[in-house]
Amino acid sequence: MSDATGRAGVGNAPERKTEGAPQPAPAGATVHLVGAGPGDPGLLTVRAVELIAAADVILYDRLIPREALRHARAGAELVYVGKQGGGPQMPQQEIDRLLVDHARAGRRVVRLKGGDPLVFGRGGEEALVLREAGVEFEIVPGVTAGVAAPAYAGIPVTHRDLASGVAFVTGHEDPDKPDTALDWAALARFPGTLVFYMGVRALARIAERLQAEGRPATEPVAVVERGTLPGQRTLLATLADVAERAAAERIRAPAVTLVGPVAALREELAWLERRPLHGRTVAVTRARAQASPLAARLRELGATVIEAPAIRTVSLEADVPDLGAYDALCVTSPNGVRELFARLLASGRDARSLAALHVAAMGPGTARAFREHGVAPDTVPARSVAEGMVEALADVPLERLLLARARAGRDVLIDALRDRGVHVDVVALYETVPEPLDAEAVSAVAGADYVTFTSASTVRHLLSAAGAEALDGARLASIGPATSDELRSSGLEPDVEADPHTPDGLVAALIADAGGA
Ligand code: SAH
Repeated sequence: MSDATGRAGVGNAPERKTEGAPQPAPAGATVHLVGAGPGDPGLLTVRAVELIAAADVILYDRLIPREALRHARAGAELVYVGKQGGGPQMPQQEIDRLLVDHARAGRRVVRLKGGDPLVFGRGGEEALVLREAGVEFEIVPGVTAGVAAPAYAGIPVTHRDLASGVAFVTGHEDPDKPDTALDWAALARFPGTLVFYMGVRALARIAERLQAEGRPATEPVAVVERGTLPGQRTLLATLADVAERAAAERIRAPAVTLVGPVAALREELAWLERRPLHGRTVAVTRARAQASPLAARLRELGATVIEAPAIRTVSLEADVPDLGAYDALCVTSPNGVRELFARLLASGRDARSLAALHVAAMGPGTARAFREHGVAPDTVPARSVAEGMVEALADVPLERLLLARARAGRDVLIDALRDRGVHVDVVALYETVPEPLDAEAVSAVAGADYVTFTSASTVRHLLSAAGAEALDGARLASIGPATSDELRSSGLEPDVEADPHTPDGLVAALIADAGGA
């Protein structure tokens, strides 16, 4: 019986019958109906990422996190089936047809939807179509906006004393439905939190109907716009004034509206806005391979991060000489350490060839990279600049030192060591080359509150890729004196200089600056 009811809901099922016997789907053909969460890429599930990475075809909607598709493999077919520039959606029957056809062709199909696929996502309808067509499916739940947006706004949807239930309600005005499609009296009586999806345009009507059916005018209401995304905004109001205030503040979709006493808990539980870099946009210009930890840290602190890698490192053909000929080894960057060990291993050597050497690492990141290769450096200067290294090595007896670094480095360390009679050889293991920035990245940088520079080369190459005008209006944050000098030589004064001269120092300096600004 339930089967018959199910089929009745599937609009195009009868049509397909007239096409003759449906082709059987190949064994193993499965459509994965996957929720992508509310927008923050960190809220994609592990299963969602796994399936996206394995998919041959991904049919996706508008409200999925942009970053979700980055997990797709090269060559996967990505098909946008959402609204076309605010216009109509691809017809549902067309989406259904694509799902069935791709699955029957033996492709691994992911149907990717914002939030949860079964919460106002038509996932149920699509599953019925697949069942009808004999195509296997898997449903992967996602974090739904009605729970996630309030969580990021500091609003628990249930609470032992304030809300013993939660109802997800559509606020969408469907012109085909009579106004009575929702039982407003029942909603008004519901002993818990009401969460309206798709309700921005209908706010006035929602507030009016709930009051008319007995919810108090003073009932707290929160509207969370772009929940979990950069630029999330929350309006806390009451049933009496929410419509007017949302209009005044130009609240737009996507937004969820929460009605109930829990909404007021936001006054105490708002946490997002309290993070030190909340509301700040920070551009990270270092090489993509190294940008992630810095970007992740900045995001944790509430910043919106623009990754605009101005440089990229390229390995150079260079052999590491016999280390037995030296009594010290100095490496100036984490990348240098990785390049060094790659060459040692390639030539049949390993960490043991450093056994007799005094090992010096420029900065905590370089020291960490050494430890990852099983070597604890003997010297890590307090200041991560050449001058700091000169001081730190002042009392170390040295005769022959090998310096492993990038092609274009400063000569301060070499000169100072040679002055004290040390024989210094330099091996350049990699070089830093400019990374072209597309127009989108350039304009994103131009809109940033802070642009961070983690080396002189990021300054040079960002300026040549984006031009100095792109930095107008941004505060310029430099990791240390050499980087600051490079800015000054282009006529730019750094607003922030890190001390210590490390990525952590840079983050701390940004927090201090943002707090004072
Ligand atoms: N399946 C989705 C809902 C799709 S309906 C889910 O489970 O979340 C689209 C509605 O979801 C929007 O009109 C809005 O009400 C809500 N929505 C989606 N993303 C949102 C976000 N980031 N912040 C607030 N509301 C969001």
